[in-house]
Amino acid sequence: MKDNEQIEITGNNHFSTSIKTPLRADAFDKSDDEKIKNIQHHFGKIMEELGLDLTDDSLSGTPYRFAKMYVKELFYGLNPANKPKLSVFINKYSYKKMLVEQNITIDSACEHHFLPIVGFANVAYIPKDKVIGLSKINRLVDYYARRPQVQERLVLQILNDLQDVLETKDVIVSITAKHLCVSSRGIKDQSSFTTTLEYGGCFSESEYRNEFLKIIAQQSI
Ligand SMILES: [Zn+2]
Repeated sequence: MKDNEQIEITGNNHFSTSIKTPLRADAFDKSDDEKIKNIQHHFGKIMEELGLDLTDDSLSGTPYRFAKMYVKELFYGLNPANKPKLSVFINKYSYKKMLVEQNITIDSACEHHFLPIVGFANVAYIPKDKVIGLSKINRLVDYYARRPQVQERLVLQILNDLQDVLETKDVIVSITAKHLCVSSRGIKDQSSFTTTLEYGGCFSESEYRNEFLKIIAQQSI
């Protein structure tokens, strides 16, 4: 195991190791209920270690609420069984120009501090033979956001899946988000935010990329 000094350097640099979220081979051997029970136990111990009195009415339910929130809400996207079904349709309209889905909510958490990453994503693609239901894009973004993340990996995971399912490389994904581990601790910079951009196919050409960037500059309707 790394010593704590190295862990602190790693945590502050926020690098990602691979496009795949690092998961154990036995990650889903236990049921959600078993996980909630175990996390409830361990989080209760953390609270006790901090000196909190778990017999207090206001605190007694916290370990359970915390465990359920982790497994069922904040990190439901760890489990491939929860992946949204990405139904695609034949592009009957022969729509061949850019489709942009913008201002998609990002509610994630950084994997180095388990603190929120909040912001929005913009996704665009140029259809070939397949189109996707619009809300499926939002669901896919939420699925990958709801796991301990680094923003660089999140944007790549969304891009790769969309390229696969749409059977085209002509996809672009941008994420702009605020990291609470930057704003609430460490450097405590309240104003900065982070943008990541990944793309393939025709978006490698600045003409297409600029059209996308011009459209997403309009942040409301
Ligand atoms: Zn962090």
